[in-house]
Amino acid sequence: YDDRDGFIWMDGELVNWRDAKVHFLTHALHYASAVFEGERCYNGKIFKSTEHSERLIRSGKLLDMDIPYTVEQINAAKAEVIKANGLTDCYIRAIAFRGAGEEMGVAALGNPVRLGIAVWSWGAYYGDAKFKGAKLDISKWKRPSPETIPSEAKAAGLYMICTMSKHAAMAKGCSDAMMYDYRGYVAEATGANIFFVKDGEVHTPKADCFLNGITRQTVIGMLKDMNITVHERHILPEEVEGFEQCWLTGTAAEVTPVGEIGPWRFEVGELTKRVATEYEKLVRA
Ligand code: PMP
Repeated sequence: YDDRDGFIWMDGELVNWRDAKVHFLTHALHYASAVFEGERCYNGKIFKSTEHSERLIRSGKLLDMDIPYTVEQINAAKAEVIKANGLTDCYIRAIAFRGAGEEMGVAALGNPVRLGIAVWSWGAYYGDAKFKGAKLDISKWKRPSPETIPSEAKAAGLYMICTMSKHAAMAKGCSDAMMYDYRGYVAEATGANIFFVKDGEVHTPKADCFLNGITRQTVIGMLKDMNITVHERHILPEEVEGFEQCWLTGTAAEVTPVGEIGPWRFEVGELTKRVATEYEKLVRA
């Protein structure tokens, strides 16, 4: 993905796509001192740009890292790089990270905190699962306790087990994996939050040890506006079999129906379709 035309915003300026490089001794490469965002731009407008910029800064603070840009500057940088690449509908990846410093130890107080933003066209994250329903594996990796890692940050280090879970799922012909948390409750997928439906009501894991996605919060708000009861609670694995519908939410995933998780089957039902349609309308409004 590094050899193509286009521009990437790095540390305050636009650089040619091929020149957007970092040094081998970048602290983040060795110690995962990086926080990032995934966003989408629809019809030339970034969906919830300010919320994403705020989350980036907050994630940085959770890693003891002050990002040297304001929300307004980050919003403007995202708009600038989208324009430079001539895009109207795209995915946006901003990443703040600790660069190379005087020494190469764990401490990085003297290292610069850098910011880069790339944008590219990205269609449906789960391909045709968007209509048929995705097939999910069940990961052997558990979302860690908030006492183990700052689990509410969108931080690079939290994704190591996600990549491993996703690779294991793909080897079994699945699109993704559902992960349990350190206590054994249902948590989320490797890059998306999860919702279930039963008897006309919605159940979703309480976001107390994983990313409380911006799409998750948007969808909960939409459901409440539709007068549908939403239970944010701890969900046990043995309950999953009894749910009728299931979907994933995320910036990249948007609202993607789930057809299978391990041995369990779900229908791509009316509510799932309605939520997916309403979300699509909202982001393009
Ligand atoms: N959980 C994880 C692990 C994710 O990577 C993402 C994608 N950012 C989400 C949930 C969904 O978050 P959002 O809706 O803010 O994109």
